[in-house]
Amino acid sequence: MTATTPGLVCAHHHLYSALARGMPPPPKTPTNFQEILEQIWWRLDTALDLEMIRWSAMLGALEALESGTTAIVDHHESPNAIEGSLSTIAAACAEVGVRVLPAYGITDRHGADGARRGLEENERFIKEGNRALVGIHAAFTCTDESLEAAAALADELGVGVHIHVAEGIGDVEAPQRLNGLTKDDWLLSHCVHLPTDHNLRGTILHNPRSNLNNAVGYANPVRFENPVALGTDGIGANMIESFRLAYVLQRSVDVTCGPDPAWSWLETGWDLMPEARDDEVTWSYDPMDPWHLAFTPGVRPLEVKMDGEVVFTDGKPTRVDAEEVRAKAAEQAARLHARL
Ligand SMILES: [Zn+2]
Repeated sequence: MTATTPGLVCAHHHLYSALARGMPPPPKTPTNFQEILEQIWWRLDTALDLEMIRWSAMLGALEALESGTTAIVDHHESPNAIEGSLSTIAAACAEVGVRVLPAYGITDRHGADGARRGLEENERFIKEGNRALVGIHAAFTCTDESLEAAAALADELGVGVHIHVAEGIGDVEAPQRLNGLTKDDWLLSHCVHLPTDHNLRGTILHNPRSNLNNAVGYANPVRFENPVALGTDGIGANMIESFRLAYVLQRSVDVTCGPDPAWSWLETGWDLMPEARDDEVTWSYDPMDPWHLAFTPGVRPLEVKMDGEVVFTDGKPTRVDAEEVRAKAAEQAARLHARL
C-alpha cells in the first residue's frame, strides 16, 4: 500500500551543520545554550570554506530527498567564506534535485564589516535573480544599525527576513529590539522565550528536536496567533519525524491534544515554498494522515518527483551518486574537524 503527497518542506535548516557530526568535543562541556553556541556552532561556522559548504549542502539535500523533503528554507553562516556562499548552497541543492530558499545570517560578532559583507551576499544573490530571504543571525548578536539595515534591504528587495528569535534566554529582548521592523513575510525561528502576547509579525518556525537537544525549553507554539511552520534547525530534514516530535512534545504539556495542530504546522511549509506542492512523494505507507503517522515509525519515500522529474527512486537519488556524496562529505568533514 502506498500513498502520495506533495514534497515536504523543512522551514528551518542549517545545511552547513551536516558536517558537524563526529566533530571533536569542545575543550569544556557547554552547560547552557549560550555556551553551546560559543563552543560548538560559532567555532564550526568560522572554520567553513566554500568546498565544505558545497559538500555539506550536497549531503543535506540528499538526506532531504531520502526523507521525502523537496524544499528547504536554509539559514547559513560562514564568517570566513561569506562571498559566494549562497550560490554554492543553491548550486548543490539544484544538483541533487531539492529546492532551497537560502539566507545569509548576518551578525556583528565579527565586527561591523562582517555584518556588511553578509548583507552584501544576500543582496548580490537576490539581485542576480535568485529567490532568497535576507538573513539575520539573531537580535542579540546584532547592533540596532544592522537590524535596521537588514530590514531595509529586505524591503527594498521585496523579500522577507529569516531570523532566530528568543531561542534562549539570552535573546529575551528580541521583541523590543525588533519592534516595528517585522512584516508578515518574516520567518521567526524558535520563539521559545517569546511572550505569548508579543508585537512581532511573521511565521514562527518550531524546531522540536533542536530545542530538546539544547534544553532551551518548550516553545508551545499553539499559544501564538502567528502562523507556525516546522523545521529541524540543521538536524537532518526528516519532516515526518519533526511532525511526530512536535505532536508528542505538545502532548507532554496537554494530554487532550491530538496531532492535528502539529500536522497543520507541517502544512504551513507549503505557504513558505508553494512550489513544493508541484512535487510528488510516493510513500511506503498508506494513509499519510496525522493520526496514523503520529504512531507509525519508519515511513519512507519510495519515489520523489520534482516538477515531474523522478529525482529519487529505489532508495537512491537519480541525479547524483549517493555513495560519492557521502564519501566527499566525509572528506570535507575530516578537513573541517582538523581545523577545530
Ligand atoms: Zn537555527
